[in-house]
Amino acid sequence: MRARYKPWAADLIAGHPEIVIPNPEALKGKWHEEFGNDRPIHIEAGSGKGRFITGMAQANPDINYIGIELFESVIVTALQGALEPEGGIPNLRLLQVNAQELETFFEAGEIDRVYLNFSDPWPKTRHAKRRLTHESFLKLYERVLPEGGEIHFKTDNRGLFEYSLTSISEYGMLLKDVSLDLHANEPEWNIMTEYEEKFLKKGQPIYRLEAKFQA
Ligand code: SAM
Repeated sequence: MRARYKPWAADLIAGHPEIVIPNPEALKGKWHEEFGNDRPIHIEAGSGKGRFITGMAQANPDINYIGIELFESVIVTALQGALEPEGGIPNLRLLQVNAQELETFFEAGEIDRVYLNFSDPWPKTRHAKRRLTHESFLKLYERVLPEGGEIHFKTDNRGLFEYSLTSISEYGMLLKDVSLDLHANEPEWNIMTEYEEKFLKKGQPIYRLEAKFQA
């Protein structure tokens, strides 16, 4: 997702270093200190405009959330969402970084769950390595999660979902829960993302899986 250039975005982001962390590498191994508690930390890789991560943080105050997004013009909308509630969202941080570099920002086992929502499908075979469920990304997630850490993944893209099921099971992860139509019986805990709402309105099924790393 690339949004139109927003000339004001850089200043708004720079004005809120308490939310969009300017030097996240300095917090490697210190994220619990940053949040001021020992609660689990869940991240979303490719958090876009932030509806999911801000919604999750508000719904689950006992969990710390970090949204990771490449683009300034996109993450700035997540920042606006984080600033909306009175008193802010204390259990939420945002990082404008590449999820490929997770190990630069997190120690082994420092985060407890990775959410992937409507990740870019990269349909061409020659771009498979860019898919966030490619083996190289699974390796990366495994290194920053503890033993038994989980990935929760939603998408509208059937090709990406099929690819991810194969990639995840070939990696040796345990598939815990798979849905081929999440909204046929939407769980009450589901928080919709921007893309989820868009595709749902078009009548497309939403695929979802949970998978766990095994020793
Ligand atoms: N998760 C949001 C949703 O469901 O509405 C956004 C989905 S959008 C299709 C994918 C987002 O992931 C884009 O905003 C893109 O910039 C971001 N993204 C893709 N690859 C990324 C990476 N390697 N690191 C961080 N963000 C990434």
